[in-house]
Amino acid sequence: MKSPILPGATLGVMGGGQLGRMFAQAAQRLGYGTAVLDPDPQSPAGQVSHHHIQTDYLDEQGLAELIRRSAAITTEFENVPAPALLTLGAHRPVAPAADAVAIAQDRAREKAHFTRCGVRCAPYAVIETAAQLAAAGGELLPGILKTARLGYDGKGQIRVTTRADLAAAWDEFRNLPCVLEKMLPLRAEYSVIVARGSNGAVVNFPPQLNLHRGGILAVTEVYKGNLPVALAKQAITATESIAEGLRYVGVLCVEFFVLQDDSLIVNEMAPRPHNSGHYTIDACDLSQFDLQVRAMTGLPMVQPRQHSPAIMLNLLGDLWFDGRGKARMPDWPGVLALPGAHLHLYGKPDARPGRKMGHLTLTGADVASVAATARQAARILGLPDIESAG
Ligand code: ATP
Ligand code: MG
Repeated sequence: MKSPILPGATLGVMGGGQLGRMFAQAAQRLGYGTAVLDPDPQSPAGQVSHHHIQTDYLDEQGLAELIRRSAAITTEFENVPAPALLTLGAHRPVAPAADAVAIAQDRAREKAHFTRCGVRCAPYAVIETAAQLAAAGGELLPGILKTARLGYDGKGQIRVTTRADLAAAWDEFRNLPCVLEKMLPLRAEYSVIVARGSNGAVVNFPPQLNLHRGGILAVTEVYKGNLPVALAKQAITATESIAEGLRYVGVLCVEFFVLQDDSLIVNEMAPRPHNSGHYTIDACDLSQFDLQVRAMTGLPMVQPRQHSPAIMLNLLGDLWFDGRGKARMPDWPGVLALPGAHLHLYGKPDARPGRKMGHLTLTGADVASVAATARQAARILGLPDIESAG
């Protein structure tokens, strides 16, 4: 066993978004310094880090500075260029490693990995050539054509019903490599977050029930009974085997569908902390960011415990505008008057519709009271009512 990288050292992170910010805050609580590489001078993580290296992700000098400053390096966004991670990995421990990130960046490789691990995904076909397009069978229609790379928040996806739709959609994606997935009858969507240390120890959070609006995560609900026990076990075991199969080090999130017939299907994975895990900061004794710090430094991996049921509401830039598009400030004092309200704002200077500006986690003694405060918070903020809570 290598000895751990102890507090006092500096930890580097590729990317300066909100995930990097919450990672830096967790690292700093343990007494680590942090260095962030992100070209944006106002990046959320850059604002709170000891060092902010403002260069492009492939800039040689920027990467050299990150190596010089950091004892170990992680990444906070999925599409960090693979060559950058390889450069960093040649000089410092990098978690997750470049090869695991490369698989998660490519839907075709990702699905092949799920299948290798014995975890069922939606029926699909890889479409990289005109011949593959022509052969893509009718049994996958109606379906969703997804670009193999660089999709997020529902971008890079087109729903298709006919072969003509499919051909048009592939043209719209300029014939880039894609996967065509069969459209499945979803009952609900869940995610599971695990963290795996370099010694192979794996710990997990409970399955998170996720509601999306407009292709973007809107609400996450985590409480006992949000998923039947057998399915919860199955989802956790599947996530662990996906992490094991990658010899993964760090925090990994896997998204699942539960179908109308109650079967479990894996959707995709994110090689990093995840939006659906933000509630762990306020509702668990260790957060997903704490575990990222522990995994990358070789500190002990301890099973986290959720001490409170939680509902998280994503706060998108839309809330900064009234119905007529006039700028306004959300009613923070109103929200903060609610018991068990934990407001997180990411310090982004300008609000835009669809932009993740912050999140609000509600915790409480029982699901019913958390659901009641979440509904109140939604009303105060002007969010749609939360139908499924509790
Ligand atoms: P994100 O990065 O925000 O998680 P994404 O852009 O990577 O999203 P996916 O997670 O693949 O895209 O899909 C977005 C949403 O589309 C899913 O959460 C689900 O609601 C729906 N969806 C995706 N694939 C299918 C499918 N095969 N059948 C039914 N619905 C699907
Ligand atoms: Mg997704």
